[in-house]
Amino acid sequence: MKALVFFEMKDGSPAGASLELISAAAAIGAEATAVCVAEADGVIYEDTVTDAITKKADGFDVILFAATQIGKLVTPRIAARLGGASVNDAIGLKVEDGKIIVTRPVFGGTALENLQIQASPAVISVRGGSFAAPETAPEAEALDNATESKTKITEVIAEAGEAVNLEDATIIVAGGRGMGSEEDFGLCKELADALGGVVGATRPAIESGWIPRSHQVGQSGKIVTPDLYIAAGVSGATQHLSGMIGSKYIVAINKDADAAIFSVADIGIVGDAKKILPLMIEEVKKRNK
Ligand SMILES: Cc1cc2nc3c(=O)[nH]c(=O)nc-3n(C[C@H](O)[C@H](O)[C@H](O)COP(=O)(O)OP(=O)(O)OC[C@H]3O[C@@H](n4cnc5c(N)ncnc54)[C@H](O)[C@@H]3O)c2cc1C
Repeated sequence: MKALVFFEMKDGSPAGASLELISAAAAIGAEATAVCVAEADGVIYEDTVTDAITKKADGFDVILFAATQIGKLVTPRIAARLGGASVNDAIGLKVEDGKIIVTRPVFGGTALENLQIQASPAVISVRGGSFAAPETAPEAEALDNATESKTKITEVIAEAGEAVNLEDATIIVAGGRGMGSEEDFGLCKELADALGGVVGATRPAIESGWIPRSHQVGQSGKIVTPDLYIAAGVSGATQHLSGMIGSKYIVAINKDADAAIFSVADIGIVGDAKKILPLMIEEVKKRNK
């Protein structure tokens, strides 16, 4: 089986989960060929990628993208042009009876479904954190980016508000409604700063105006896969868990010993986050000296 693996480039390096796609291809025993596409001036990037990959796709059984905004946009377009099948947000891949089986979360992450791919090529976007990044990755061939696009960019308006890159963060300190106030929510920021991480939040924390929406983790926010996720005053609703369940190590602080967040935590601390976070901040600052 042959896999075409798309490396989404950011500042000259493969972004997000792009490198992990090499391991995803290995999981189905496919020989991987890595490609990338440079952004072309005045052309929507999705159009460029769709065109370049469609032209390159001949002879490949599987085409893999990271499940980024771009990856999820191009998979159905490429599959439609090639007469293949598209699946977004895969967290597992395997082969059974010669057919590719894709596992992906459904119903906001509360259940998993297995899909057997019937058409070729299988155009799949893979969720970050689902496969380990390989120690070494092949050089990616740069594909032609001279697309004749029907869509032209006439103006770029920067998003208002604070930009935060939660998806690539290795440490996230997330606060929930249990932090009680904007002032106490600031403890999450203080701990994140001390650890060199970024702040995440549940939807109620955002709706309370404690932090901008760009920090929301979950079903209607961002999907994150940091090495360390500290959740303070977060109950662990499925809509939040579906965004952070791929974190490698989870520490939960909640005053309710029965809170659902403890069911996914590697370490659970039962207590008042407003008292525990200052102790953690003090300890981390001491170690940073
Ligand atoms: C369609 C849809 C999409 C959604 N998308 C998202 C999403 O993307 N992200 C998201 O987060 N939510 C989302 N939600 C909302 C979600 O269902 C939950 O309501 C939300 O995640 C709960 O947030 P929370 O844990 O901050 O609040 P709560 O559920 O109210 O929990 C607060 C927790 O804090 C604890 N606590 C209270 N005081 C303290 C203290 N002093 N110290 C320690 N612990 C304390 C409590 O015991 C409790 O467990 C969505 C809902 C819907 C319907």
